[in-house]
Amino acid sequence: MADVVVVGAGFAGLSAARELTRLGHEVVVVEGRDRVGGRSYTGTIAGVPVDLGATFVGPTQDAVLKLADELGCEREPTFGRGKNLIRWRGSVRSYRSTVPRLSIIELLDVSRIQWRFERVCRKVSVDQPWRSPVAAELDAVSLDGWLRSVHAGASTRDLMAIVARVTWGAEPDAVSMLHAVRYVKAAGGLSRMLDVKGGAQQDRFLAGTQQIALRMAEQLGDRVVLGAPVRRIARHPDHSLTVGTDRAEYTAAAVVVAIPPAHRGAVEFDPPLPADYGELNRHWPQGHLSKAYAAYQTPFWRTNGCSGEALSDEGPVFITFDCSPGDGGPGVLLGFTDARTFDPLPPEQRREVALAGFTALFGEAASRPLDYLDHCWGAETFAPGGPTAAVPPGAWTAHGRWLRAPVDGIFWAGTETADRWTGFLDGAVRSGLRAATDVHQELTRRS
Ligand SMILES: Cc1cc2nc3c(=O)[nH]c(=O)nc-3n(C[C@H](O)[C@H](O)[C@H](O)COP(=O)(O)OP(=O)(O)OC[C@H]3O[C@@H](n4cnc5c(N)ncnc54)[C@H](O)[C@@H]3O)c2cc1C
Repeated sequence: MADVVVVGAGFAGLSAARELTRLGHEVVVVEGRDRVGGRSYTGTIAGVPVDLGATFVGPTQDAVLKLADELGCEREPTFGRGKNLIRWRGSVRSYRSTVPRLSIIELLDVSRIQWRFERVCRKVSVDQPWRSPVAAELDAVSLDGWLRSVHAGASTRDLMAIVARVTWGAEPDAVSMLHAVRYVKAAGGLSRMLDVKGGAQQDRFLAGTQQIALRMAEQLGDRVVLGAPVRRIARHPDHSLTVGTDRAEYTAAAVVVAIPPAHRGAVEFDPPLPADYGELNRHWPQGHLSKAYAAYQTPFWRTNGCSGEALSDEGPVFITFDCSPGDGGPGVLLGFTDARTFDPLPPEQRREVALAGFTALFGEAASRPLDYLDHCWGAETFAPGGPTAAVPPGAWTAHGRWLRAPVDGIFWAGTETADRWTGFLDGAVRSGLRAATDVHQELTRRS
């Protein structure tokens, strides 16, 4: 028995549980994995903590920054001193600003498309995008379809493909233009979302982002139950609910489902949810993104005047960052890898292609790491996928209104349901706090 059962111990579920506990409710959090954190998961390479999922935070992500501060989780600026690299059309060039070194014609085209994209953003409502006057038009095309309709050049389209891969874990033809615009607007614009300094990649946590989840779970104590995948949620005539897991059954007055829409489909609802909710789950697929880390004796690229940041139009490593703990060593390179070609490979070959990508950018020394680690989110057996939903054309206008509309005591959280920084840790925290407030109001009204 509890007042509220929270399904999922990611940032959304744990934030909801923490807030509900603060408001005086009895809470149980049931998590299907044997760990907390969800898409925040910290491993180690050469003894250094590294994030296999969420890593970075930045300005205006006030909810997650406040949470981290409260929990005493220290962060530091992402290393960015020196030249950035771009591997483009077969050669590697360096540049210093945030704008990659392309030809003048290509750069003008990138600026033109960015300007047009931001103009479309102004026309879209973040909280009810399906109501925007341009909703039908934008939801009828993919991001790629829109880029072609405004005659974006090949380099601009390839750069946007990199943006789509790292943002949604999907190609531009798989993501609705309405979703792309709403998502970027919820992050405060393209620069805010993509930049390091002043943007979403500005800082990272020394001990990894999972420490934040672990500290929330520590505070919640035995209210958090691990290894308990929720299979069934039943609603009863007296307004109580039963949540059935592999370990136990819990009865509560309200349930917060803090998992991505795509995973709601694995839970049996009794009686079934209205058909619109099932349609939503089927049309809100998770993207697939993977990461590879290599550790070296020292961050040797720093000595060569490089920041460790790079972009590549040749896969599978398409973006890199320096995640070293300091100048002395070890040096740690992070590479985002294209799941389509990376995930199907056996571990030894994944290591080989990732190191070949690092070597093409940073030279021969990158081929001889001390240690190597990768993680394929699309290949997870439980709750696979990430970084977030890659919502296809047509889904927002047909199903968007059901994304977080409560049903008989069932409330929905998770970063996908957030209106600010959706898809990010910050959106997850905000969604958990919003769901907690809604549940509290409902339970107060009932009592
Ligand atoms: C590779 C990668 C890189 C990323 N980089 C960043 C970044 O740099 N910055 C940033 O802000 N964000 C980043 N993100 C996104 C960020 O990780 C997510 O936005 C955030 O963690 C989502 O939190 P959540 O609580 O909404 O969902 P989740 O973290 O997915 O939590 C949901 C939890 O529910 C559990 N669950 C699912 N189904 C059930 C069930 N039936 N029963 C019980 N439990 C269930 C899952 O196991 C999971 O623990 C990244 C993600 C990935 C994968």
